[in-house]
Amino acid sequence: MDKQLIIGLSACLAGEKVRFDGGHRKDATLLEEMGKCFEFRTFCPEVAIGMSTPREPIRLVTSTAGIQAVGTRDNRYNVTEPLKQITVQQKAWIQTLSGYVVKKGSPSCGMERVKVYTENRDSPTGMGLFTEQLIQLFPLLPVEEEGRLKNPVLLDSFIQRIYAYQRWNELDKSGITAYKIFNFHMQYKMVLLSRCQKSYRELGRLIAAITRDNISIIAKQYINTLMATLKKPATRGGHFNVLQHLFGFLKNQLPDEEKQQLLYTAEKYRIGELPLIAPLILLNMYFTRHKHRFIENTLYLKPYPIELGIYKKL
Ligand code: SF4
Repeated sequence: MDKQLIIGLSACLAGEKVRFDGGHRKDATLLEEMGKCFEFRTFCPEVAIGMSTPREPIRLVTSTAGIQAVGTRDNRYNVTEPLKQITVQQKAWIQTLSGYVVKKGSPSCGMERVKVYTENRDSPTGMGLFTEQLIQLFPLLPVEEEGRLKNPVLLDSFIQRIYAYQRWNELDKSGITAYKIFNFHMQYKMVLLSRCQKSYRELGRLIAAITRDNISIIAKQYINTLMATLKKPATRGGHFNVLQHLFGFLKNQLPDEEKQQLLYTAEKYRIGELPLIAPLILLNMYFTRHKHRFIENTLYLKPYPIELGIYKKL
């Protein structure tokens, strides 16, 4: 999987002057950090449906016909349908993406807690109409808001999903077989364990139940549950559990001094005095010396490019 993955991006976050006020909301940190490993495909749904820049801003309002996107000054100016339709019209390139970063709070692009107005009151309960359609049409596509990606735990979850989605799409295109799903699961077992023991066990049972007749049903259930599980942020406790698990593969191989070093580093990580990268460096080093087939296959130790620098912040 060497090719550069493409991520959709709300155009204003890339610095394009497409906002209602003629400005942008460039997120230089996001562009720099994610730009190390991804290409961006920018898109502004409001400009794409023919709205001018600058323009009258829109907002979401409740109505008997459901939530509508209307002008803030003139509520007869209604762009609900064009905003919904634009996602369908753009399907061809959206399906080549591996993820999408959207602008928070926008009545078109926001993913959660977008203000919805009822008479003169507002409540942060809505989703931008473009993003709502995006998620409906591509339920497995990883979508996140730029604001949430400032949190390294949520960023890790998003990047994990991007790569899992990409790997699964490649597997799907090459033709799903029981062996390929089993191998995929082996790669993700430890990643799943770091997030949710219940899903880890559930997915293990699903894999064990594959037969020639139910393979497409199980494959669908499997990837739905896997992507939902990767959405759950991993906790220190979850990672510590995996570190102990991996330690089990080395305890008869390492001299006492190295075992102590590994346990000490893992404990320091558990109590928040060291980042996750510290025990992971030791594990990668020891597993280079003491090879193990399961470990060579697992993605826990190398889920995505190190250049992203996320494990330093976890
Ligand atoms: S519609 Fe989306 S991309 Fe366009 S300006 Fe608003 S938030 Fe940015």
